[in-house]
Amino acid sequence: MNCIFCKIINGEIPSTKVYEDEMMIIINDIAPQATKHYLAIPKQHFANIVEMNDEQAAIVGKMLKKIGELADRLGLKDGFRIVSNKGENGCQSVGHLHIHILGGEKLSEKMA
Ligand code: AMP
Repeated sequence: MNCIFCKIINGEIPSTKVYEDEMMIIINDIAPQATKHYLAIPKQHFANIVEMNDEQAAIVGKMLKKIGELADRLGLKDGFRIVSNKGENGCQSVGHLHIHILGGEKLSEKMA
């Protein structure tokens, strides 16, 4: 499968990994849109929240819990924003579900 995030997970493409466990990795986004901009990426390939099954939905739930637990360690103690783009209108450019984690500064009140 020609998926850039699968290649990052498999170590075929380098990344700045800040966290890894059996279900996900968290890396620095290559084109940060905030002082801190991470991507949480499940190791299992699925495209987005519309296409996921119940097992994958449970993985996403656990990922969100873990992100909350890691927030201080990631330099996000004063708050953060999470975003998961879907489809053309959402401007999803990589077809492997990922959660953007943005923070490290006061973010715009506008979200779009
Ligand atoms: P999206 O547009 O929501 O699909 O987000 C894809 C994100 O992946 C963008 O913010 C890109 O900057 C980021 N990205 C693409 N390639 C890489 C890479 N090799 N390493 C880290 N982040 C990447």
